[in-house]
Parts: sequence; C-alpha cells; structure tokens
Amino acid sequence: MKLNFNIQPLNTWAKVTKEPFLIAGPCSAETEEQLVATAHLLAKTGRVSVLRAGIWKPRTRPGEFEGIGSIGLEWLKRAKAETGLPTAVEVATAKHVEEALKGGVDVLWIGARSTANPFTVQEIADALRGVDVPVIVKNPVNPDLSLWIGALERVNNAGITKLAAIHRGFSSHEKTAFRNEPMWDLAISLKTHAPDLPIICDPSHICGNRELIPYIAQKALDLDMQGLIIESHIDPSVAWTDAKQQLTPSALDEIMSRLEIRKPGA
Ligand code: PEP
Ligand code: MN
Repeated sequence: MKLNFNIQPLNTWAKVTKEPFLIAGPCSAETEEQLVATAHLLAKTGRVSVLRAGIWKPRTRPGEFEGIGSIGLEWLKRAKAETGLPTAVEVATAKHVEEALKGGVDVLWIGARSTANPFTVQEIADALRGVDVPVIVKNPVNPDLSLWIGALERVNNAGITKLAAIHRGFSSHEKTAFRNEPMWDLAISLKTHAPDLPIICDPSHICGNRELIPYIAQKALDLDMQGLIIESHIDPSVAWTDAKQQLTPSALDEIMSRLEIRKPGA
C-alpha cells in the first residue's frame, strides 16, 4: 500500500540547527522562570531546532496537574524572543489550535491520546483548514497503525503539508523496561507506506526513564528516522510531570554528542 500524502520535506519548514534534528523542552511549562531558563540552556547547546512545552496536558487520571493553560503562550513568546527558538505545543481541541495560532506558536503537535480518537483529530483538522502551520502527529496510545495513518490523513486532507509523525511507543499490558513499547515494526511500516513522511522518535515517552534514552535515540537514528523529540527540564527532580524521564539540558547535550549518525551503507 502506497499512501498518498502531499508533504513538504522537514527542512522546508524547520531550520535544522544541527544533525540530528532535535525538538527539546520540558514536558510541561510550569513557571515562566522554569521555561525561559530551560530554553536558554537548550539554545546554548546549539543542538535544538524547536522548543517544546506542554501547556494543556492530557492526564490519564483527574486531580493531577493539567497544564498551566494559555498563560504559557506568553512565556513561550518570551522564550522565543530571547533565544530565537521556534516553539511547539500540544493541541487537543479546536480552541487550543485557535489560541496557539493566535499566540504565535510555530509548530503544533497532536498527542497520543488524541490521535486515538478520530472525532478529536477531525475537530483539530477542521480548525487547521486554510492555515499554513507545521503539524506533528504522535502515534495513538494503542498499537494501531491505521489510526495513526488516519490521523495523518485527516490533517493532510485539511491542507496541512508541513506534516510529520512522532513515534512515542505504544501502551502494553505486559510489564517491560519501557513505559511504552517501541514496537519498531509499526514505525517501520509507516515509513514503508509513506517514504516521504518524516518520522521523529520520542525516546522520552518510550522509555519513561532517562537511563534508557540513549539506547532508544541511537536505535531511532539507526532506523533512519528524521529526528528526535526529547524532554528536558532545568531541574528534573522537581518537575511537575514526567520527572523520571526528563533530562537537564547539559545531560541532553552529552547524550546527543555521543549519538552516531550512521549513513546507510557506510
Ligand atoms: C507529552 O509529549 O508530554 C505527552 C503527553 O506525550 P504523549 O501524547 O506521547 O503521551
Ligand atoms: Mn511528557
């Protein structure tokens, strides 16, 4: 099956600061100081192309921190003004799309829980009609390649050509070393069906802990994925979300410096 996406290559919409292409930033924007300080340290590494930060957080259960909300858009604006890094947030509703675009966000991503729901994806896609913004679609939480493809198609059909996929692993009932099983075959299959679609690996949400990140990041590069999205926090020990998997900017810099970009056939 060859999928017919109408896509512009990654380097037409994202300036690749350094290979491999890297999106980094905190799981959640928590305070203005935390976000801006993290952004400065990430920018200083010279490796980051896009700053990520969740401001609307899809939590599995209620009663946990659900994101700082729209005020985070102002903090992202400041982080961008001071560091020059373009910004990315997760959107899960049409209202998020509207607010993020009005707030000057450069890249939008659709989270794994949203990708699993075609109504949600369609609502987001409809809000994107007529807008020229890069959108990245995470795989659904469950190992269903068609749902992932369907979400990409809905966004592409709405006219978004600056499109990429994020491989963040799949939930599994089995207890394994990973928070979300990589199930690499699903990402490879997407690549086979849609060779022009960039796939970015998210080792943070696959691993669930920082120790395994270098292994998954290297494996993604070995599989010729086009970039990485990795969570980084100025002080992961006090992070409000995903504390175990976040890296300080300097730890991230160190991991990135050790990754090998192996060219096929080399
Ligand atoms: C995130 O990127 O912080 C996030 C919530 O990810 P996912 O949708 O992959 O669970
Ligand atoms: Mn996270």
